Amino acid sequence: MKIICIGRNYADHAKEMNSPLPKVPMFFMKADTSLLRPGMPFFYPSFSKDIHFECELVIKINRVGKNIAERFAHKYYSEIGLGIDLTARDLQAECKKNGHPWEISKSFEGSAPICKDFIDKSELQLDDLKFRLEQNGEEVQKGTSADMIFSIDKLIAYVSQFMTLKKGDLIYTGTPAGVGPIAINDILVGFIGEKKMFEVKIK
Ligand code: MG
Repeated sequence: MKIICIGRNYADHAKEMNSPLPKVPMFFMKADTSLLRPGMPFFYPSFSKDIHFECELVIKINRVGKNIAERFAHKYYSEIGLGIDLTARDLQAECKKNGHPWEISKSFEGSAPICKDFIDKSELQLDDLKFRLEQNGEEVQKGTSADMIFSIDKLIAYVSQFMTLKKGDLIYTGTPAGVGPIAINDILVGFIGEKKMFEVKIK
């Protein structure tokens, strides 16, 4: 399986990063070894001093497809979950400055915490899907799919032009504003609506 992550899909986050708004979706990849299995702690790595949380809705692809038309994209996923795109902001800044790829800042071990159970999309209001992240009991991020620059269907159509999507692939759909640093002993809890989706301890 592969993990596709969308960058700058919420205007308020692009603004807080001083990034221009994209005209087309922007994506990068994480290795399958980035997935942090539900219930496992995240061990703060020694190569970064500034790892940030980015809480994101996650689409699970349910069948093979390429060059998927936007109007058919809804047939390629049936479940939505929640995860974190952990980002080594210090390494990312260095990569950006040097015009290098982002992998070392994005695709490291455990950098993609994911929920245990996904939610069937028939139970969700997809055009206004609210989610939030708490850090040590305090709300730090909240977003809604209504604020996405590119909708889920647009993202699937766009990405599938470049690579075949396969069953089990995950698409992290971008983060809203409010990203911030994590610290050892933090507890990060994510919600879709009022449903608790994951709890991640930082060690
Ligand atoms: Mg992200």
